[in-house]
Amino acid sequence: VKTKPIKTFGCVLKTVERCNIDCKYCYFFNGKDNSYLRHPPYISLDTVKQTAEFFLQACFEHDIDRFVIGLHGGEPLMQKKRDFSKMCQIFHDTLGKFALVHFTMQTNGMLIDEEWIELFIKYKVHVGISIDGDKDANDKYRVDKRDRGTYDRVVQGIQLMQNSPGIQQMGGVGILSVVNPEFSAKKTYRHFVDDLKIYNMDFLLQHYTHDDLLDNPGFNLDPHYDFLCEIIDEWVADDNPRIEVRVLNSSLEQLMGGRSHTYGNGARSQGLFPLITISSGGHLSPVDDIRSTNPEMMVTEYTVFNSTLSQLLSLPIFKKIQAAGVNIPEKCSQCIWLEACGSGDITNRYSRITEDFNHPSVYCDGLQKFFRKLAVYSLKNGYPFEKLAANLKLAERNIGVGV
Ligand code: SF4
Repeated sequence: VKTKPIKTFGCVLKTVERCNIDCKYCYFFNGKDNSYLRHPPYISLDTVKQTAEFFLQACFEHDIDRFVIGLHGGEPLMQKKRDFSKMCQIFHDTLGKFALVHFTMQTNGMLIDEEWIELFIKYKVHVGISIDGDKDANDKYRVDKRDRGTYDRVVQGIQLMQNSPGIQQMGGVGILSVVNPEFSAKKTYRHFVDDLKIYNMDFLLQHYTHDDLLDNPGFNLDPHYDFLCEIIDEWVADDNPRIEVRVLNSSLEQLMGGRSHTYGNGARSQGLFPLITISSGGHLSPVDDIRSTNPEMMVTEYTVFNSTLSQLLSLPIFKKIQAAGVNIPEKCSQCIWLEACGSGDITNRYSRITEDFNHPSVYCDGLQKFFRKLAVYSLKNGYPFEKLAANLKLAERNIGVGV
């Protein structure tokens, strides 16, 4: 019986490096990095077996108790079901005696059918489906290779999942929506909750960096957090504990001195998963989001065939990522929200000028509005100001302001 405390290790495993659709904003296929062209379209069972061995060694070296394996693409449901099943089994058989093995998956939902649902239930895969709002909002950028909207087919997939008692027992369906301030946040949220009956959602901000601000003078990112502030209004008005909006729940928890739920989001998210990315060919690299900063930082000579996790983590890029958690930018050190915000997501802190992440988030103004709104909500609901001030370490940091 294991008595050690749970220590989680996470990865993004690129099981398929091709996609059946062509989202205009896709950071993987339509971004700065085209390494997928050098990788096999599908992960082979040999690479899966070697990845499991790589994890096993990491498990002993780093005293890991729990693996969170994020199955990603491209589109992970393009993998053959038989291979998917063998892959999950290999991870369970190799690691299951020593650690918990937990699968998550991010999919565009287009290929979901009853057989896939059985496999999700069998291997307890927690599935997130990407959808950006109602038909107009979703089909603006989430289109197939013939430029046709994907909304109807995605909703079919969501509904199949919703109708499965096994999926409901596992906590139901979660969706991930990319913030698009061209469309109404209220309409987007109401569509998810009222029309699609989705009670577990997250909103993702685009991976803008300081380079985007340099290259596009006057680029205004404020509307992105205005969108999230409007989502807060709707969520508060619903006052329904069943509805989980991960970015809100996670940020509130951090204001209350707890931990972030998402890697790279907030001050206490260092060490949370996903930590590394494994390509379909077994190549090892840092967290997938870094792809949107300087793609060269994703390239290492290490693979699951020729290295260990310790070797990988000793590379300079991991030191840079770690440094971002320690080197607090001057502006942030004076900021009331630092303890909750942590200077923002790692990608949004990158600048090619310094080639590091030691900058406040490009979304800083929006983040301040967002945390203020959440703090006011907590105080209005009876959360004591003294506790909030203590969580934000205002006295220690000599910051004497109200919210
Ligand atoms: S809100 Fe801005 S200044 Fe404050 S911690 Fe976040 S990024 Fe830094």
